[in-house]
Amino acid sequence: MEKTKTDSLIERDQSNVWHHISPYVEENPAMIAVKGEGSWIIDYDGNRYLDGMSGLWCVNIGYGREELAKAAYEQMKELCYMPLTQSHIPAIKLAEKINEWLEGEYMIFYSNSGSDANEVAFKLIRQYHQQNGEHGRFKFISRHRAYHGSSMGALSATGQALRKYKYEPLASGFLHISPPDSYRRPDNMSIETFHSMLMEELERKIIWEQKETIAGVIMEPLITGGGVLIPHPSYLEKVQELCKKYGILLIMDEVICGFGRTGKKFGHQHFNIKPDIVTMAKGLTSAYLPLSVTAVKKEIFEKFKGTEENVHFRHINTFGGNPSSCAVALKNLEILEKENLVEKSAQSGIYLLEHLKNGLHSHPNVGDIRGLGLVLGIELVEDKFTKVPVSSKYMAKIVAECKKEGLIIGKNGDTVDGYNNILTLSPPLSSTEDDLNFIISVLMKVLQNNQSTQKVLS
Ligand code: PMP
Repeated sequence: MEKTKTDSLIERDQSNVWHHISPYVEENPAMIAVKGEGSWIIDYDGNRYLDGMSGLWCVNIGYGREELAKAAYEQMKELCYMPLTQSHIPAIKLAEKINEWLEGEYMIFYSNSGSDANEVAFKLIRQYHQQNGEHGRFKFISRHRAYHGSSMGALSATGQALRKYKYEPLASGFLHISPPDSYRRPDNMSIETFHSMLMEELERKIIWEQKETIAGVIMEPLITGGGVLIPHPSYLEKVQELCKKYGILLIMDEVICGFGRTGKKFGHQHFNIKPDIVTMAKGLTSAYLPLSVTAVKKEIFEKFKGTEENVHFRHINTFGGNPSSCAVALKNLEILEKENLVEKSAQSGIYLLEHLKNGLHSHPNVGDIRGLGLVLGIELVEDKFTKVPVSSKYMAKIVAECKKEGLIIGKNGDTVDGYNNILTLSPPLSSTEDDLNFIISVLMKVLQNNQSTQKVLS
């Protein structure tokens, strides 16, 4: 049989492109996308898919926005590059705009990716403590099941063992505590008691590790890729209280939760806190160009000022704060504001959550449906009483069946405890009501047609 154009592209892809974090299976070729429109992606054969994950939780304003292309084009013509050892207009304007969104006083350090932004936070926190005379503070605390990036420091902060164990030893000084997995709290325990237990665990960790050695705590406002684990409203306030009590700096990783994803400008704005450092990427440019930011409270920056030798932050990256990326980010924020996409994200999230709960509550494998704004998770179990997770094979089948029906959804990151059983949803904030209804109808159909009947012994 003669090869189609697509067959030959697949062949070229499989011989040359090493795909990220995906098993290499010849019979299961990658989708080769050629176009994006709104919430939809079109592949080389013309098949249309609703992107229920906004790429990797990042295309917040949707695909195909000409204004962003124009912003990049105009900026490239005017000034394509300037290292941020100096400055340029889009970097200045964007830093001001981010401060407006943060409702705070932060210095804006630009990099290229979420991992970069977290590395910057770790390095500058260690230096800050040293310059404060606290030479022993070097450790960071994060949570099991959380993801903070792929570079050595960010991977060390990550709490997903399967992503780490082949690359060890990682950076030293990274500690982990339990995640706020309210669905799996002990039977008959109130959420309040469960969360005070978690806070006791954090405080004990700080004390047992020697409190003067802890430099920082890094958390997402809610654990996203690790299974959509949403904390009790008072959780982060307590974390911040403990950080203040022990002289520890609090980093909020807003790489996914920022820029309207959770129905507020930043995820931490759901909680009554003011982080010392906020890291952000993805939705900052809606992924039209790479850009990330480490926003650092001005009082911390004070310690890095002056001409004294080595007092400044000795960190640089070539592309961070690229003028075109900044111009695109500015246009992206303008669109988020003009189209009220932050509020829309909150409303669309409620709509999806309500319809999915109504439609799926009686499904035998749907253990829990949860979400905040447009970060949603559906936890699948063999049995609602024992909460035994469904198999990875069943999860893969659901994701594949959704794709056949034209819907891309995700599943949570690698865990070693078997809890790879959470479907994730994170469509563009600009999704229309028809888009949301499509997501609901495909998920209902696929889950109804595919029930897991594995016998589980309790
Ligand atoms: N932090 C969080 C919470 C993330 O989800 C990610 C990426 N998924 C990162 C950091 C790392 O970002 P990047 O892939 O841009 O390095």
